[in-house]
Amino acid sequence: MTETFGGSVGFDHLLVRSDAPLQGPGTLAFGGSVIAAVVPDTGEAGRPGNRLVLPALSNVHDHGRGLRTLAFGALDDALEIWLTRLGLEPVADPYLRAVVAFGRMAEGGIGIINHCHNTQNVAQLEAEAVAVKRAANAVGVRVAFAVPLFGANPVTYGDPAALYAGLPEGDADALRRRAAAFPAFNEQLAVAESLFELADSLFTVQYGPVAPQWVDEATLRSVAERSAIHGRRIHMHLLETRLQREWADATYPRGLVQHLDEIGLLSPRLTVAHGTHLTSAECELLAERGVSISVNTSSNLRLRSGIAPVADFVASGVKFGLGLDGMAFDDDEDGLREMRLLWHLQRGFGIADVMNRERLLQAVFFDGRDAILGPGSAVPLGPGAPADLMIVNTARMNRDVIADRTGILDLLLTRATKADVDELWVDGRQIVRNGTLASLPLAALEDEFTSRARHAARAVDWPALDRIAGAYRQYYGCGCHAGRSAMPGICTTDP
Ligand SMILES: [Zn+2]
Repeated sequence: MTETFGGSVGFDHLLVRSDAPLQGPGTLAFGGSVIAAVVPDTGEAGRPGNRLVLPALSNVHDHGRGLRTLAFGALDDALEIWLTRLGLEPVADPYLRAVVAFGRMAEGGIGIINHCHNTQNVAQLEAEAVAVKRAANAVGVRVAFAVPLFGANPVTYGDPAALYAGLPEGDADALRRRAAAFPAFNEQLAVAESLFELADSLFTVQYGPVAPQWVDEATLRSVAERSAIHGRRIHMHLLETRLQREWADATYPRGLVQHLDEIGLLSPRLTVAHGTHLTSAECELLAERGVSISVNTSSNLRLRSGIAPVADFVASGVKFGLGLDGMAFDDDEDGLREMRLLWHLQRGFGIADVMNRERLLQAVFFDGRDAILGPGSAVPLGPGAPADLMIVNTARMNRDVIADRTGILDLLLTRATKADVDELWVDGRQIVRNGTLASLPLAALEDEFTSRARHAARAVDWPALDRIAGAYRQYYGCGCHAGRSAMPGICTTDP
């Protein structure tokens, strides 16, 4: 594979910062892994003007599964139902699994990724982390690896007795066995501590308490303390679904987010994913504490979670970026389409200007980077900035446009897709050229990975999965997770 390190990148249009007009034409000269100079072009009139240089995209929340969930039978549905099929993912080589995921993202211009690791074998977590790091380095992207910490409420939010009561004994036993298989939290924390040693300039490690409902109180407190002592980042799902909100309200009558604040978890070192069901008061508290949010628009639609209250994010000033969560709208890891979806859903309807263009660009191209790498990581694209660049070719978008009628950013926010990404540079290294991963032969790796996955896929007991999904619908439909069922078992006896 041919690659290019260093050198320079010419541009016709350059997004230096979110609140300034595009610059150009000119050239960005690199000094190693940073931009050394921005040199304006003089003369050379009539050049085609197709090169738009933007900061590399940041994917603030993803899981790095090479096999998309739809491909292995976890069909789009409410998160709580979808989760009952997530275990259908065939066991894969952890390097291939990650390299395929990261490579696809890179081809869409994503250069910075918050990887919430979903382990396939909890006893092999350390080996999996090493493999993910190798994959990130091979593709050439920056990855923050969130070490998963989980095991509380392993079956349902709240007491699963009513769920078990609604299932044949064999199905209930299988769920009980899975619930008993989680290692103790102190063992998980010990593994996490050892993984921080993997960090290098492109690969960082974070605490990954998966979500408040899935982590015990002592561990959340311990993570908050360790984060403060070592200055390490934390990445956690938060209030993704309505059912989680109901569980949280029943469990923490004074407020879950308030509680997280009291135990010291809310800080500029924390990024939360989704926040779909945050209240405006909670957004204000998160903003005050400097917490960042990953808005996962496509995932929230496909998993029926809802639409994030971005108007409250904007009003409170809480920082946010975008996350694909392994669930891009067209299942194609397209960060530019994701940006447009966020824009159209959240800019406001009618003449209500809820989020303006600058706020969107700030979130997507700057605040998202901070949410992954830490405050202060995103700087204007100028001398001293990391050479993490995406080059979008505007020719396709521009084909029918009459000169001087439509701006480049109008095109970007209306038409841009992954197909328009020509190049990606990370840390001064070119990893995508002509829209194709240059660091590795991605198509061949995808073929190899997919054929291995098909081979590894085991027979599925679909009737059992349907029974289990039905029992979950019954359990949550009755409000068992929020303490609404009078006693365990009652709500499942009379469907
Ligand atoms: Zn997620």
